[in-house]
Amino acid sequence: MTEVIDGEAVAADVRADVADRVELLEHAGVTPGLATVLMSDDAASETYVSMKQRDCEEVGIEGIHVEIDPDAPASELYGTIDDLNDRDDVHGILVQLPVPEHVDTRQVLRRIDPEKDVDGFHPENVGRLVAGDARFKPCTPHGVQKLLEAYDVETEGADAVVVGRSDIVGKPMANLLIQKGPGGNATTTVCHSRTRDLEAKLSNADIVVAAAGIPEFVDGSMLKPGATVIDVGINKVDAETEKGYALVGDVDYDSASEVAGAITPVPGGVGPMTRAMLLYNTVKAAGIRHDVDVGLR
Ligand code: NDP
Repeated sequence: MTEVIDGEAVAADVRADVADRVELLEHAGVTPGLATVLMSDDAASETYVSMKQRDCEEVGIEGIHVEIDPDAPASELYGTIDDLNDRDDVHGILVQLPVPEHVDTRQVLRRIDPEKDVDGFHPENVGRLVAGDARFKPCTPHGVQKLLEAYDVETEGADAVVVGRSDIVGKPMANLLIQKGPGGNATTTVCHSRTRDLEAKLSNADIVVAAAGIPEFVDGSMLKPGATVIDVGINKVDAETEKGYALVGDVDYDSASEVAGAITPVPGGVGPMTRAMLLYNTVKAAGIRHDVDVGLR
């Protein structure tokens, strides 16, 4: 029987745990604060940001939201980041990506105080992750790691294949899987658009993390029987639904679930975990800033 990995349930556990740690901070007189910055009129980005704000409210994190006109000069975003860096009530800063083309994403990510960089994208935090001394693990791969842990999927010595090498998902995912220690020690192969014979790599994998952004392109015939399949992809495809579209992953769920030992659904797999780990990082950031041991590593 294939086990369905329930991201909603694991994320609810993470949120409950985070809420307990918010109380520890409150006892020390600290209310954790997360600032979200939106410089876009993309509907999906607006939805993501409002969901993040709602999540904050649920666990007792103070949400601060700043909107910047997408046509405004880049300097307005930089100035906003500088202000948020200086604010004592802001412990985490998240600039919703993508930013408009006239804004340099790298400059944006470098400008955020690394101790408030709860996305974990600042070069200092990327370096710490690679060095095995992570401050903030990027939310999506960290969420995947938590899912594997929650379902007792052994990473030690496992052959893992990560499909995708983006800075947000693929690279940090691979970096977490190769680290020494719990949740790591996997023999990890990173595949991308220039990879030769992806099928051969997948057919040998005990753990597959699919993050290519191509609807349903990993199917059951490519998988090793019993593999754990984590589908990070969120792709909008035309469908005869009320909205006129449906969300599907990078994995063809029906065929893959006949072969896999465990699999995440889309939606309800990795997505909720990404949101939960942002709360985790924000509370961790507040603990670091005020020297309160909230017990998050
Ligand atoms: P990117 O587009 O930045 O990266 C996609 C990666 O897939 C690239 O490295 C690309 O290779 C690789 N790729 C493309 N085609 C192939 C192919 N045929 N075979 C193997 N590899 C290929 O996407 P993201 O990493 O940002 O996101 C990936 C997916 O995850 C998207 O569907 C996104 O919506 C979703 N996502 C979901 C999140 C969640 O919370 N569930 C969070 C973040 C993203 P190359 O580098 O050579 O171009």
